[in-house]
Amino acid sequence: MDEADRAQMDMEQYSSVRKQQEESPKSTGYCLYCGEKLKNKNQRWCDKDCRDDWEREWKLRKKMSGQ
Ligand SMILES: [Zn+2]
Repeated sequence: MDEADRAQMDMEQYSSVRKQQEESPKSTGYCLYCGEKLKNKNQRWCDKDCRDDWEREWKLRKKMSGQ
């Protein structure tokens, strides 16, 4: 493998990680929509209403940014 191949692979790895992050935001311990503290750190929203509202806004934002 030469340098060009390695650079190519790094780029692919980087963009796939980036894509993953964009498609599924990290859980922070707080509801991503209303900011409420969550008991379960792997949770991202406090309930499904927050998740639904967040997803709706998120899709709208994506559409508006032209992605
Ligand atoms: Zn919430």
